[in-house]
Amino acid sequence: MKVTKHIENANGKPLFSFEIIPPLKGQHIQSIFDNIDPLMEFNPPFIDVTYHREEYIYKELDNGLLQKKVVRKRPGTVGICAAIQNKYKVDAIPHILCGGFTQEDTENFLIDLDFLGIDNVVVLRGDAVKTETYFKSEKNGHSYASELVQQIGDLNKGNYLDDDIQNSSATDFCIGVAGYPEKHMEAPSLESDLHFLKKKIKNGASYIVTQMFFDNQKYFSFVKKCREAGITVPIIPGLKPIATMKQLNIIPQRFHVDLPDELVREVIKCNNNDAIRQVGIEWGIQQSKALIANGVNVLHYYSMGKSDNIKAIADSVF
Ligand code: FAD
Repeated sequence: MKVTKHIENANGKPLFSFEIIPPLKGQHIQSIFDNIDPLMEFNPPFIDVTYHREEYIYKELDNGLLQKKVVRKRPGTVGICAAIQNKYKVDAIPHILCGGFTQEDTENFLIDLDFLGIDNVVVLRGDAVKTETYFKSEKNGHSYASELVQQIGDLNKGNYLDDDIQNSSATDFCIGVAGYPEKHMEAPSLESDLHFLKKKIKNGASYIVTQMFFDNQKYFSFVKKCREAGITVPIIPGLKPIATMKQLNIIPQRFHVDLPDELVREVIKCNNNDAIRQVGIEWGIQQSKALIANGVNVLHYYSMGKSDNIKAIADSVF
């Protein structure tokens, strides 16, 4: 079922949803199930599965020369989605990227998803690969998420890239896109970021999932600005509980979001990561309850592979 339909059917009752990342190559699907199992009692209507593109690494050869190798450390998004739908009977939502895909690759990927009975996709541009400073699209790929949304919108009308296809059946994907309450790191201003966010909606996206934020005011202010800009689709807040001391530096650097002073003070007081995990849980509970009290009806948690803290939050909130 489409995410928008799940929201409609809930009639304002808050929904719990979460995102998982495929395990590193070599691990078994059971590692995913072990993290999903404890969260199923909160009846998630959908579970997102992230997509991870290739990375370039350099291996030193016996003769001292460096050999460039392409590796994908976390393949399996489509397979995991199929496994989740099969085992839990909930909607699995694959993330799909511009990066690393030609338009033909994208079309074939979408056909696979359609055959698997996947109803929703979250469409993203993806980041630059680690060895490059700026994002580069594939030759004949897409440079921005809005273009990929357009391609899926076309497929939803039965328009395939191959003009010769006869009797082509239309897909019916519900499309989610990313929004950034604290603006995307490359955007010169929030206003410009909102302009391009609106383009993603105009091209066919039906809902927005936000980047993580730790101060609800940033979310409320973002939603207000979106509404003023004429964006009317649901804006699902993305929440991530802090769990380690390292994240105090990694999160602002990697995701370009602020951590409130009060949260940072509480984390710094802790002597170990168990105590920090508890601070993250308490903060997540407060954030979630305040969002729901203000009428937000779907919360989306970034589990990053371990779900015990998300479960602790959900126990208090749902
Ligand atoms: P876009 O919407 O294309 O925007 C990228 C930048 O370009 C923005 O600054 C925007 O303002 C600007 N822009 C857009 N259109 C134009 C235009 N026409 N002209 C000029 N500027 C323009 N990454 C992964 O690799 N895998 C995942 O599974 C994944 N999941 C994510 C889920 C969520 C909810 C979020 C918030 C992010 C996720 N990401 C993921 C990260 C994402 O790929 C990066 O943040 C990426 O840098 C931007 O993706 P986007 O879809 O927001 O890009």
